[in-house]
Amino acid sequence: MMKNVMQTGLGIMLTIAGLCGQAIAQNKALVNTSASPYAKLSSIDMGNVTWTEGFWADRFQVCRDSMIPNLWKVYTDANVSHSYKNFEIAAGLDTGSHAGPPFHDGDFYKLFEAVASMYSINHDPKLDALMGRTIAVIAKAQRADGYIHTPTIIAERQDPKKAKAFADRLNFETYNLGHLMTAGCVHYRATGKRTLLNIAIRATDYLYNFYKTASPELARNAICPSHYMGVVEMYRTTRNPKYLELSKNLIDIRGLMQNGTDDNQDRIPFRKQTKAMGHAVRANYLFAGAADVYAETGDTTLLHTLNLMWNDVVNRKMYITGGCGALYDGVSPDGTSYDPNEVQKVHQAYGRDYQLPNFTAHNETCANIGNVLWNWRMLQATADAKYADVMELALYNSVLSGISLNGKNFLYTNPLSFSDELPFQQRWSKDRVGYIKLSNCCPPNVVRTIAEVSDYAYSVSDQGLYFNLYGGNVLNTTLEDGSTLKLAQETAYPWDGRVSIRFEKAPAKSYSLFLRIPGWCAGATLLVNGKPMSVTLAAGSYAEVNRKWKTGDRVELNLPMPVKLMEANPLVEEIRNQVAVKRGPVVYCIESADLPQNQKIFNIAIPAQANFTTESIRIENTEIMSLTAKADVNNKTNWNNTLYREVSNADKKQVNIRLIPYFAWGNRGHVDMETWLPLNR
Ligand SMILES: [Zn+2]
Repeated sequence: MMKNVMQTGLGIMLTIAGLCGQAIAQNKALVNTSASPYAKLSSIDMGNVTWTEGFWADRFQVCRDSMIPNLWKVYTDANVSHSYKNFEIAAGLDTGSHAGPPFHDGDFYKLFEAVASMYSINHDPKLDALMGRTIAVIAKAQRADGYIHTPTIIAERQDPKKAKAFADRLNFETYNLGHLMTAGCVHYRATGKRTLLNIAIRATDYLYNFYKTASPELARNAICPSHYMGVVEMYRTTRNPKYLELSKNLIDIRGLMQNGTDDNQDRIPFRKQTKAMGHAVRANYLFAGAADVYAETGDTTLLHTLNLMWNDVVNRKMYITGGCGALYDGVSPDGTSYDPNEVQKVHQAYGRDYQLPNFTAHNETCANIGNVLWNWRMLQATADAKYADVMELALYNSVLSGISLNGKNFLYTNPLSFSDELPFQQRWSKDRVGYIKLSNCCPPNVVRTIAEVSDYAYSVSDQGLYFNLYGGNVLNTTLEDGSTLKLAQETAYPWDGRVSIRFEKAPAKSYSLFLRIPGWCAGATLLVNGKPMSVTLAAGSYAEVNRKWKTGDRVELNLPMPVKLMEANPLVEEIRNQVAVKRGPVVYCIESADLPQNQKIFNIAIPAQANFTTESIRIENTEIMSLTAKADVNNKTNWNNTLYREVSNADKKQVNIRLIPYFAWGNRGHVDMETWLPLNR
């Protein structure tokens, strides 16, 4: 459905002549679909939602006080990370060589974006000054033609003949440029300043001109395509039609070159793909970017492929935590022929349908964030609550698991179980670390995501306000007709399903609230000013309440969240006869830290009739809802040099166990952990 640009979106869509001769859009949403003709929803301006209490207020505070300052220190300490130093050398402010992975520029831009997002809410002048100083350095590092990528620019300073842009697709230039574009848009929306945006404009113009002349082989540089999202956001900010043309072209050229790979999703054209395959970060970023292009163009061939990919991921390839990318390494069995010499390697990748191992699950934090970015864009395009369900699932489980509760340590992979008894080392640490030497892409990604959760909480349409994610907050925004909407939300979600909404300023006309009833929720109830409403409250939908609201009106939504035992499709052979424990959107796990000494997680089984009790505890000064129950334990523990043995019930007894949310695992020292547990029927 085509929407009228002038009648939709929050605030008034103004354009003014900007620097570089480009019009600049005034909407300040993180992802600005306010003028996207094929997006049914648009977003609240950055800074219009303030967390006040509860889960996200707590995470946001840790983000402000620990995550951002800590990671900034890491990235500007050349003894730990050369990320910022690379910019200083490229700018000619210091001497030396480039160090760190080629995608380090992009990691720094993500951290910068987190700072800008934080500034949109707290307006801390110190952050503004910090960003100003940093932008001056980035500006000096940019080449006159707009190209900016510190490995090449530093090499050019040393020997102009040797350095060449886009010489190797694994240089991640477009990935870095994409994050610069997003950071430029976010900084502009947060501060009103065009300093970083102008750098991004020159870089996007460079990319536009590059693709005008690039061979298909060179154009194949789209490794981990953050720039699909970036280029579309640049179009939304500047309304420069060249950028929309570029974004369409970037999708069209995929799969047209020789020797593409399933790992990079470019063996066959995007529109001919039927299965999600290959590197899961690259795949999810591609899907998010294609969804952005759909929102601008209404190209149903893109939506068709996106629907195939979504069904494939959600029905066959996604972990119960919303994690994506089952395999460390593997092959793409359908990639070429069955000649073993030609089978294509994949890494950090989606596996076969139902191939979901637990110890060796890769589930890179960035892939799980990519799942959020993709589903957010699908939600904006369609207003279908099923996308909000996946967003929420990934956020509460496989995104938050990527960072410690104190905000300073990170996981690259997010396995669903871990044991020291597994007699081999995996490539990435299962203890969170402060700096991931080979790939620090995830830490700034998770930090910017937590800084921006408030931007995902609500959406708006012509009809009303959508509640996507619940949490204690105040929303204070201006609607397109100029009226003010202010409401306060009080809730202990996700630990409690009661949500109370109070109008502080209501629009004059009739207005709808679209309250998300999560897919996991049966028996939701709704009161308006204490009276039950005859509204359908179906799981997996938005329930619409339309009326003329007035100040003081109160909406009370109750989303019952009993503890549930979840089982998997039997084709997931690794978890036959096992259950995961879930309450509301939160998946639970068991840690050896909660077992008596000498007791092992492998000995625990969950009785089908287990009776769970909620108990609030604190880990790392963070309130966590734990679950306690009586479970079966088999004390025959020694499996040394034993692969198979006869089942024995001799030592079976019951013990008290405690489960904690999966995202909080590994915050009490080095532990064994399991998410799927055997079921005793
Ligand atoms: Zn990553």
